[in-house]
Amino acid sequence: MEIKAIRGFNDILPEEIGMWQFVERTAREVFEGFGFSEIRIPVLERTELFARGIGEATDIVEKEMYSFLDRSGHSLTLRPEATASMARAYLEHQLHAFDPVAKLYSIGPMFRYERPQKGRYRQFHQIDAEVFGVGNPMVDAEVILMLLHFLKKVGIGRLELQINSLGCRACRPRYREELKTFLMKRSFQLCEDCQRRLETNPLRIFDCKVETCQETIADAPKVTDFLCEECILHFNKVKEYLEMAGLDYILNPKMVRGLDYYTRTAFEVVSYQLGSQNAVTGGGRYDNLFQEIGGLDIPGIGFAIGMERLIALLSKDKKFIPHPSLFIAALNGEAQREAYRLANQLHLEGIRAELDYEGKSLKSQMRKADKLKARFVLILGEEELKKGRPILRNMEDKSQEEIPMENLLGILKDKILRD
Ligand code: ATP
Ligand code: MG
Repeated sequence: MEIKAIRGFNDILPEEIGMWQFVERTAREVFEGFGFSEIRIPVLERTELFARGIGEATDIVEKEMYSFLDRSGHSLTLRPEATASMARAYLEHQLHAFDPVAKLYSIGPMFRYERPQKGRYRQFHQIDAEVFGVGNPMVDAEVILMLLHFLKKVGIGRLELQINSLGCRACRPRYREELKTFLMKRSFQLCEDCQRRLETNPLRIFDCKVETCQETIADAPKVTDFLCEECILHFNKVKEYLEMAGLDYILNPKMVRGLDYYTRTAFEVVSYQLGSQNAVTGGGRYDNLFQEIGGLDIPGIGFAIGMERLIALLSKDKKFIPHPSLFIAALNGEAQREAYRLANQLHLEGIRAELDYEGKSLKSQMRKADKLKARFVLILGEEELKKGRPILRNMEDKSQEEIPMENLLGILKDKILRD
């Protein structure tokens, strides 16, 4: 029986990879320009890191983690997100001892056991950026500016920035109680999951996709009406700095984000081109995360971009599909040896050249060159070899010219690299 990939795990094929590489390249360029450094973290961590970091009563920890016991009986988990691991690495390697402020980014696969559908997979990829060690609201705005600049650079328009403040340890408990009281009175309208969430984590009901739950919560008290003085001040500053950076935003008091560790600023960038899985990016401040995993009081803020959803928004631009610069169509025998020698020389110069390995006819080789969309074809038939003048055919304008064998490499390089 043929073995297939696991449900929700995708291959990214050569024809798609150009887009992925372009997105990654742009992220590196933009983020490094903003002073961020790359960090690479393992895909496997102790389950405890996520349970404590993300929060026991979250969707991710309750039902989405790929956790298993290894051969020594340790509970391990394939990372569902990167922030907790990045924070762990920052503590473990005492990056704060050198400079408490760390601006880090990471790119890679994440794993969540969710129902696979368009824009939702079990292995998916994120681009993560985090700033550790700064509580100043200026950084909240700076990170958002960097994110939107990146999205613009990769070419996505029609995005909406939504922001909210989730309060802090001082003010959120009161809001939580208020929300709970409100929902208790209407609990009969809530789905089974949300009835449970009412006890464990009522804020999560905002994220429920069930329509009746959404209707019930529509008139619920707003978190922003319960913020303490300091949180109000922080939020006002964030808005002020966003305006200074020339960024438009929409206040969305219902956006609470699924992770427990968020405090104060939360934001999402949504696209109306994506359908129901419309969130391209989620992020926010998490001033309690470090205490949960390491006991230190270090503030943090960051975001994660879902690469599959981002790439679904990009137009399928042809320039990302690599085509050979040259196809060398040569007849069997001496001509083929010459083609082999030439192709090697071009490859060493970083020029993509293809040739036929199977001794096909010149006609069928020309067909292949056409299929591969080679820019030029060098024809090395018996005749050409005898005359010492192979023919170079420009596949775009169909013009042909003879090229002297003596200076073949130089002329080819010149023509191929010229445009
Ligand atoms: P959603 O509400 O769509 O489940 P989320 O709040 O769980 O998103 P985050 O944990 O904030 O998502 O992750 C950040 C980004 O990662 C999302 O905005 C999305 O683009 C992407 N993402 C999250 N889960 C998946 C998934 N299962 N498949 C593909 N992309 C995902
Ligand atoms: Mg989710």
